Amino acid sequence: MNVNTGKAAGWRGVIDRYSEFLPVTDQTPVVTLLEGNTPLVPVPRFAAAIGAKVELFLKCEGLNPTCSFKDRGMTLAVSKAVEKGAQVIVCASTGNTSASAAAYAARAGIKCVVLLPEGNVALGKLAQALIYGAETVEVRGGFDAALNIVRELGLTGLVEVVNSVNPYRIEGQKTAAFEICDALGDAPDFHFLPVGNAGNITANWKGYREYHAAEKSDTLPKMFGWQAAGAAPIVDGHPIDNPQSVATAIRIGNPASWQGATSAVQESAGSIGKVSDDEILHAYQLLARTEGVFVEPASAAPLAGLIRCVKLDQIPAGSIIVATMTGHGLKDPDIAIKQAGVTPKRAEATLESVRAAIGL
Ligand SMILES: *Cc1c(COP(=O)(O)O)cnc(C)c1O
Repeated sequence: MNVNTGKAAGWRGVIDRYSEFLPVTDQTPVVTLLEGNTPLVPVPRFAAAIGAKVELFLKCEGLNPTCSFKDRGMTLAVSKAVEKGAQVIVCASTGNTSASAAAYAARAGIKCVVLLPEGNVALGKLAQALIYGAETVEVRGGFDAALNIVRELGLTGLVEVVNSVNPYRIEGQKTAAFEICDALGDAPDFHFLPVGNAGNITANWKGYREYHAAEKSDTLPKMFGWQAAGAAPIVDGHPIDNPQSVATAIRIGNPASWQGATSAVQESAGSIGKVSDDEILHAYQLLARTEGVFVEPASAAPLAGLIRCVKLDQIPAGSIIVATMTGHGLKDPDIAIKQAGVTPKRAEATLESVRAAIGL
């Protein structure tokens, strides 16, 4: 297999690269921060550590401009909003959508309003919304309540909604599947990813199907989505009133793209499962320690899922698996420090004292 995992020179963002697959014209004012073209990193040490005899690659979406995959959809959603003359965009967010919306609005010179669930947004994400200059409102309620308000705001016609209920978000996000096929030379056997509002599993599956239909790839992957056990409406078969998880990005009780996720797993002969917070945090730390790849907790859900599948012997040896690492670990430093469970050792500023501290 000839895998091109590097950054291409002269990259001008996902709209430029994949315009033939996207609803844009020469007149569309492209608002881009050169998102996409993220590395597909092989992680053999992690695979060995979990006893998986597979070729595992991580699509490291935390290397996008605002450090999550949300930038792929946001470049298109904001470009289309500007094209139709919108002055204000609005979103509800567990954090990463707001970070991305705020950045692309700043880039476009328009206003951004973000609604966040009070007290449950990771520190890095909140910092982003604030520094990019978004009007930031903490709502006393969860993500689902905030999204309902955003939908109603959208109906006033005064603002453009850039949540993934906006179809341009899904269109932009499907480019991740194109890049994976371009890098591997074909689709992988399995694609693992976290599921929150379920836009991304919907988008990636759409991307694989479109690339296949255009004969840019010969095969289709099985889509394996993973929810957090305390926020697993699709697995449990009903909306969850008060979803809970350490993985705040997937702490969603009533996914907007529920149907899209169900179709993706049915059509691809995949599945949606759930993993506990303990399993998520174990995978999160193991990845960082075995490979030097630091992702946010939600991104570790598919890795926890893979650990499960390997234990149950559900993955044929030699399979090519891609897992989407949806967001960067620095988004949520509090969890990392807590999970590491250690604090820095202390020493005097002398060689002896440092040697004593490290036992060398
Ligand atoms: C948004 C997000 C998810 C969930 O994606 P959905 O499209 O809502 O299913 C997972 N991980 C991270 C880091 C995210 O930002």
